[in-house]
Amino acid sequence: MDLREKIRNVPDFPEQGIQFKDITTLLKDGKAFRVAIDRLAEHYLDKHIDIVVGPEARGFAVGAPVAYVLGAGFVPIRKPGKLPAEIISQAYSLEYGKDALEIHKDAIEPGSRVLIVDDLLATGGTTVATVKMIEQLGGTVAGLAFLIELSFLNGRENLGGYTINSLVQY
Ligand code: AMP
Repeated sequence: MDLREKIRNVPDFPEQGIQFKDITTLLKDGKAFRVAIDRLAEHYLDKHIDIVVGPEARGFAVGAPVAYVLGAGFVPIRKPGKLPAEIISQAYSLEYGKDALEIHKDAIEPGSRVLIVDDLLATGGTTVATVKMIEQLGGTVAGLAFLIELSFLNGRENLGGYTINSLVQY
C-alpha cells in the first residue's frame, strides 16, 4: 500500500507558503492506519522497547498504537500547563519565537529504552527537545520513528547518532 496517497497536502496552511501534510485522511482509513502502525512498529519488534514517547497531539494518535503493538508503555509529551504531576520542561525554537514541552518527572525509569514516535519530522526541534528530556531522566533513546519526513528541512542533521525511520519522505 502506498501511504503517500493517503496523506492530504493542504497548501498555505496554517500560513502562506506552508505545505501542510494532513494525516487525518490516513487515520480515518482503517487499512491504511493499520499498515502505517505496523510498518512503524516493525523495525522495533526485537529492540526491547520499554516506553514509546509521543508529543502532543498527533504523536498520541500515532505513538499510542505503536506502543500497543510493541507491548510497551506510552508516555505523553505535552504543551506547558497540561500535565498534573511534577514535570520537567524543555524550551525549543519555533519558526517565530519559542515554546516549551513538558514530561512527568517519573515517566521514564532510568535505564529504560525509549522509542520516540511522531507524525512528522520537519526541522527536528520538537524531537531534539523530547530527546533532551528523556536523557535528562536517564532513559536511552533507542530510535525515532515518523510517518512523514520533510527531508528538505534537514531535521536529521539535528539528530545525528540516533536511528531514524520514516515511512514517507518529501
Ligand atoms: P519540527 O519540530 O520542526 O520537526 O516540527 C515537527 C512538528 O510540527 C510535528 O509534530 C508536526 O506535527 C508539525 N509540522 C511541522 N511542519 C508540518 C507540515 N508541513 N505539515 C504538518 N505538520 C507539520
